[in-house]
Amino acid sequence: MIKSDFHSHTVLCDGQNTAAQMAAAAYDKGLSAFGFSGHGYTPFDSSYCMSEQDTEQYLSQIRKLKTEYAGKMQIFAGLEADLFSEYDRNKFDYIIGSVHYIKTDAGYFDADNTPLILRETADKYFGGDMLSLCERYYEQVSLLKDVDIIGHFDVITKFCEQHCLFDPDCSRYRAAAFAALDVLISRDPVFEVNTGAMARGTKSQPYPSRFILKRIFERGGRVIFSSDAHSTQTILSHFDSARLLLKSVGFKSRVTLTETGFQEIEI
Ligand SMILES: [Zn+2]
Ligand SMILES: [Zn+2]
Repeated sequence: MIKSDFHSHTVLCDGQNTAAQMAAAAYDKGLSAFGFSGHGYTPFDSSYCMSEQDTEQYLSQIRKLKTEYAGKMQIFAGLEADLFSEYDRNKFDYIIGSVHYIKTDAGYFDADNTPLILRETADKYFGGDMLSLCERYYEQVSLLKDVDIIGHFDVITKFCEQHCLFDPDCSRYRAAAFAALDVLISRDPVFEVNTGAMARGTKSQPYPSRFILKRIFERGGRVIFSSDAHSTQTILSHFDSARLLLKSVGFKSRVTLTETGFQEIEI
């Protein structure tokens, strides 16, 4: 079975380990390919994104690691770009497009930081209606363009298992998710099955939810496993759960990234 992972962070953004430590851990775990995806520079948020200088350092560190691991493990220099990030895509091997903020008239608010921030944002800017906030989130998701991989499609559900913010089974929520999904599927990106919240103990299942994966499968969409590792310990974490989920939905294959692009492999 091919072991690979293309969603990882380092100390240059909000990760806990250096790029060298992450690569060494990936190699020790038997990966044949490993991708870095630091948070892209986002002008209004310096709290966890890379600055423009950090980004240059990041690319230079990964260039060195590519040489160091040549012939042993393929290394890719990706970027997790937020919808509102600024970047030159030519500098990166691939782009993961994600939405981490809800844009309002008063600025940008975290979509996946704490349940309290979400609740307060809904109260102040969406008339207390969490589903209206979710609709804004999915409108933004539908704007992700020119990206290779869609990151944690439904991260807005991050706290739903532990906090009753809204019901992700209700028809209004599902309609918003499907509307964004149908727009994205027409652009044919790869959707990640992201196990990051499982490793952090906030969710029992990967993103996206089963009903979304089912729609991706029915429309012939492609999927990739992502750990969203913020430390060496969580590289490849919970991929067995992702595998079981995909098989139960009907998927026969996933993709991995190679130097010539995405390649289909068995789940
Ligand atoms: Zn993210
Ligand atoms: Zn990430």
